[in-house]
Amino acid sequence: MPRQFFVGGNFKLNPASLQASTSLIEGLNKADLDPATEVVIAPPSIYLVPVSQLVRKDVKVAAQNSYFKDSGAFTGEISPKQLVDAGIPYVILGHSERRTLFFETSALVATKTRAAIDAGLKVILCIGETLEQRESGKTAQVCQEQLQAVVDVTKAEDWSKIVIAYEPVWAIGTGKVATSAQAQETHAEIRAFLSKAVSADVASNVQILYGGSVTAANSKELARQPDVDGFLVGGASLKPEFADIINARR
Ligand code: PEP
Repeated sequence: MPRQFFVGGNFKLNPASLQASTSLIEGLNKADLDPATEVVIAPPSIYLVPVSQLVRKDVKVAAQNSYFKDSGAFTGEISPKQLVDAGIPYVILGHSERRTLFFETSALVATKTRAAIDAGLKVILCIGETLEQRESGKTAQVCQEQLQAVVDVTKAEDWSKIVIAYEPVWAIGTGKVATSAQAQETHAEIRAFLSKAVSADVASNVQILYGGSVTAANSKELARQPDVDGFLVGGASLKPEFADIINARR
């Protein structure tokens, strides 16, 4: 079965008010979106519930993070069980901003992934290398190490609940998009790794998104690469061009 094209919008800590979030969602609700694309938007946690009530039903909602415990003395955290209870089907885990600014290790990301899947969430699992790691030829190794941590705590069937987002750190929010050849090469390496580490079936079925300075202008060529199954979009998901990115394969 061909893999469904998938576009996620990571709003990060934006917009800065409920009113601005409402206008953003109203714009998306009016847009002409390719029904063949699975669309997921990730607003800040404080807006998850109002956004999920307002957004059109063909667009799903993701949290940008979740903890690995259901409840307890974990000030400031949000649990996978609470997300499921609130009707939120997805969570983004392992984003490079979480890894860098909030010191999340691959082991912690894996523990959170396990807990999220156990609670019934689908996970958008972010991986990717820094510029220094790319320039020293370590891209495949870094992606594999980040994935291995998740492989270690999952079974083959869990991978139907995981979408991988390959997001080179040097491309996130910088305006420096990976070339379509760079994206294709790394996505193919990720698939080859999963084929050995998990199974050939998982490798061919898992959706691998590219993320990092995706715009309407560069999305069409990236979307033509055989191993690029969609995008995780930051900055451009806050603009009307998000609809063009969703429609990149149309
Ligand atoms: C992201 O934050 O996941 C991202 C890809 O950001 P941007 O599109 O702004 O580079």
